[in-house]
Amino acid sequence: MKCKQAFMHGPFDLRIEEVELPALLPNQVLIKLGACGICGSDVECFEGKSAEGRYDIAPYTPGHEWAGKAVEVGSAVTSVKIGDKVVGDCVLPCFQCANCKDNKMSSACLNMREVGFRPDSPGGFGEYMILEEAYTHVIPEDWPYELGAWVETFNVGYWGVWGNGCDPDASDTVAIVGGGPIGLTAAMVAKESGATVVLIDPLPARRENALKYGADYVLDPTASPIEEQVLELTNGKGASVVIEASGNDIGIASVFDIAGHSARIGLIGHSIGRKVNVEIGKTIWKTLKISGSGGTTRWFPRTIRFMSKIKDKYDFAALNTHHYDFFDLADAMDLAVNHKDIARKVMLTFKDMD
Ligand SMILES: [Zn+2]
Ligand SMILES: [Zn+2]
Repeated sequence: MKCKQAFMHGPFDLRIEEVELPALLPNQVLIKLGACGICGSDVECFEGKSAEGRYDIAPYTPGHEWAGKAVEVGSAVTSVKIGDKVVGDCVLPCFQCANCKDNKMSSACLNMREVGFRPDSPGGFGEYMILEEAYTHVIPEDWPYELGAWVETFNVGYWGVWGNGCDPDASDTVAIVGGGPIGLTAAMVAKESGATVVLIDPLPARRENALKYGADYVLDPTASPIEEQVLELTNGKGASVVIEASGNDIGIASVFDIAGHSARIGLIGHSIGRKVNVEIGKTIWKTLKISGSGGTTRWFPRTIRFMSKIKDKYDFAALNTHHYDFFDLADAMDLAVNHKDIARKVMLTFKDMD
């Protein structure tokens, strides 16, 4: 079967091409795409600023924030049926190598694939995609595809807050550094735990927005030293949980300043490939616990249940600031790349989806 998919050949070289899809293997699902978000990491790869997109073995089909419909299932597939609305994992572990057998995270898999970043795991920038059943998850029938396309992002924020030891409850003040999509999902998750949520971002529009997605307080780190602002808000204690979701050097460095004694810290924002100056001694004197968040294993079903509970409480649809038909991909990327200030989330849509 022929279909159109986009291929990243190199920086600023993204082309829609017609391909012949391979025959479906017994353990695979053929998915017709319904929506696909453009992630900040897609933009960084497009701009040639990130090595996550594998240009050394390019071309590859981007798109890891997708939702679609199963239109064909392999003969051995049992948990997905034709017509199901589905989403899928981004980091794909093999479940067979020494690290997978040792129950390590997906990112430790010795044969790891990553949807939307490598030629061996094509993503959702295309009319159709193929994924193994093991990584394909059914979402409720009444969800719009665009909500489904938020599952991967929400999963990152959710796991960063609850998957690796930060575990906030109503006794905590959670400071979230960065009010982009991941920061907002972390804010919603933290809020649902009963904690007091403080979101820090230099952009006024992001701060204002965060108040609608779980933040009780928002702070501008450029107004005055952020450490002082957080201490003032917390009666001199500092935040008991800090989630870093900006990936920005100043944001990462601030984590050690705004964390209170014995705080738990979750690092989600990327800084791979560069050193960041931080006052690491505060980790010792404050007895901080730091956990990293890079790829989850078997958390999508939990994320889908969580989102089902809160999807009517927060306006997920309003998070998508821009919509483009898939075939207008060039315009969509142009907006995502050149108007980061207004493009909170650019969503690709697909015609003829019910
Ligand atoms: Zn993403
Ligand atoms: Zn493995």
